Amino acid sequence: MPKIAILPGDGIGPEVAEQAVRVIEAINAKHNTGFECPTAPMGGTAYDLHGHPLPPATLALAQECDAVLLGAVGGPQWEAIKREHRPERALLGIRKALNLFANLRPATLFPQLAEASTLKPEVVSGLDIMIVRELTGGIYFGQPRGLETRDGERMGFNTLTYTESEIRRIGHVAFRTALLRDKRVCSVDKANVLEVSELWREIMISVGEEYPEVELSHMYIDNACMQLVRAPKQFDVVVTTNLFGDILSDAASMLTGSIGMLPSASLDQNGKGMYEPVHGSAPDIQGQGIANPLATILSVAMMMRSTFKLPEIAASIENAVAESLESGLRTADIATSQTPCSTSEMGDAVISKL
Ligand code: NAD
Repeated sequence: MPKIAILPGDGIGPEVAEQAVRVIEAINAKHNTGFECPTAPMGGTAYDLHGHPLPPATLALAQECDAVLLGAVGGPQWEAIKREHRPERALLGIRKALNLFANLRPATLFPQLAEASTLKPEVVSGLDIMIVRELTGGIYFGQPRGLETRDGERMGFNTLTYTESEIRRIGHVAFRTALLRDKRVCSVDKANVLEVSELWREIMISVGEEYPEVELSHMYIDNACMQLVRAPKQFDVVVTTNLFGDILSDAASMLTGSIGMLPSASLDQNGKGMYEPVHGSAPDIQGQGIANPLATILSVAMMMRSTFKLPEIAASIENAVAESLESGLRTADIATSQTPCSTSEMGDAVISKL
């Protein structure tokens, strides 16, 4: 039986994960897929229960399952605890342990939501970008790092490193992704300032030579941020480092109306992956039953396509989401004139359209 580890996490994580699990159960009922969904705690919830945000049993479950579905982690009540026990550390830990080096974040605008974007509808309608972010290297992991007192003054330091092989493997993911889309890759770096970026650019060009049908361009990160809000439809696949990708993909998320709409996939070399909404645990709306579950439900669609190679089921989930929006249903974050529906009402609608 295929197994999906469900790690609901903190805040609205459990609320949105619950709807995604209902969708998986509906798929089981319709397609006889037999997905099992064992659950384990992660993040602040796991710290409260077991004294660690990523308990060994949770990591073992994630390793033994075919895919992982994560809600979100974090919250103000865990901000004061030791850095290595903070919920967000569990995210870095699981990515590293499962070797999830490639983060795919689509920024696609459902036409029904063009009005919900902060940009003009004509700038964003038809938007379909895929941001490929390197996830296990760069400044978030580089050593040395720390806080020290030197010459009587406190200082903080982090280190940005990329090896050639790290750049090469994320480059291949980007070019292979582009082959299935509009066959354009834009590599984003800061090669005018950073030596690491010089190497990044050189290796991207070298990987690109293996994909002659894909057009490769380069852009500095500062310009890429500007272009993303000026004319976002110019992009097809964007490939970039961990830090730049973190920032760019959050900016891209706003183009689509709400961070509550955006799924993501983090993949290893063999297509095993962890799937999660781009948003965090939203403590400001926790427990109110108003969180948008669609990013998590769309993460299930990405999982069906990338890990389980079930593109028809993936498409049926995406269509069910589109039809639910078409029927006028909106959670508070994407409502313009409509009366907002609840998290579970949105889940009900998607399931009824499946
Ligand atoms: P956030 O994404 O949790 O929330 C930002 C804003 O978007 C909030 O106003 C929130 O209410 C809203 N929002 C987010 N998801 C929504 C949804 N599904 N439906 C409706 N509205 C939604 O970001 P934040 O406030 O910066 O962070 C809150 C906590 O989440 C922090 O502890 C942070 O570290 C953590 N975080 C976790 C992850 C993750 O688990 N992958 C990612 C980002 C932030």
